This record gives sequence, C-alpha cells and structure tokens, in this order.
Amino acid sequence: MRQRAARDQKRLDSGAVTSPKDLENLQHEIASLAKRQGDLEDVVLEIMERREAAQERAGELAGRVESVQAKAADATARRDAAVRDLDAETESATKEREVVAASVPADLLKLYEKLRVQQGGVGAARLHQRRCEGCRLELNITEVNEVRAAAPDEVLRCENCRRILVRTADSGL
Ligand SMILES: [Zn+2]
Repeated sequence: MRQRAARDQKRLDSGAVTSPKDLENLQHEIASLAKRQGDLEDVVLEIMERREAAQERAGELAGRVESVQAKAADATARRDAAVRDLDAETESATKEREVVAASVPADLLKLYEKLRVQQGGVGAARLHQRRCEGCRLELNITEVNEVRAAAPDEVLRCENCRRILVRTADSGL
C-alpha cells in the first residue's frame, strides 16, 4: 500500500498527469491510501498491545505453575520422608515385639492375641490410678481389693472389658 501511495505521489510530482480530473482522482487515491494506512497502523498497535498483555499474563501463569510445582515437590519429599520414618518405626517395633513375645509364656500370649483381636487391637491395658486404660472405667473397691490381694505374677483381667490388666507403680493400689 505504501508503494502504491509512493508511486501515485511520484506520478503526481512528475507533472505527467495533467488532466484536472486525473489529478483529482490521484489526489483522492493518495488521501484514501493514507487513511487506510492510518487505520491499519491502529490495528497493528492494538494487536501489539494485546500481545504484550497476553505475554505478561503467560509469564504470571508460568510463575504460578512453578510455585505450585515447587510446593508439590516439597509435599512429596515430606511425604516420602514420613513414609521412611514410619517404615523404620514399624521395623523397630516389630523387632521389639518379637523380643517381648519370646519372653511371654505361650498360654498368656495366646490369651493376649485372642483379646487383641476381640478388642480392636488392644489386648492388654495399663491399670492407672485404679482405672483400666483399655475401657477407661474405674475399678470398684471390691475389684481394687482383689487386685491388691493377687500375687504379683497373677494374670489380672478387667471385669468390664476383659482385657489383661497390667499393674504399674501408678496403678493407685
Ligand atoms: Zn477395661
């Protein structure tokens, strides 16, 4: 379009066009080409502005993606570390349990295993301040007296939940 306008202008300037009507047409065409060029420049400008805004937004989004990815990587690393800790804990607890189980008489271990299955994973409970820590019920005075009278190696059971009661220094006897 610019070339055409320049060519028209050259023709106009050369003086080759002499007819008033042709001159008028030529001038009209030059003016109309100039207007169209101005309109197109506006469009180009608008497109450039929109592209700039889009690039800015894309940059923002890329930044957010990066931040979310970093958070996800951090959470994954923490989860993996927690799983490793739990695995190690499970392994050491399993070994400890094997050692303890080996020292418990077979019939008592059998009773414990039976109760453990029946009582949601807890077969024995600590007697703490006259309270069974398995079912949280406090022993009445008769039960307390029975526990007091029992030999230290006697296997005691909670009258309420039937779990094995384990006596400690804090049993409140
Ligand atoms: Zn109990």
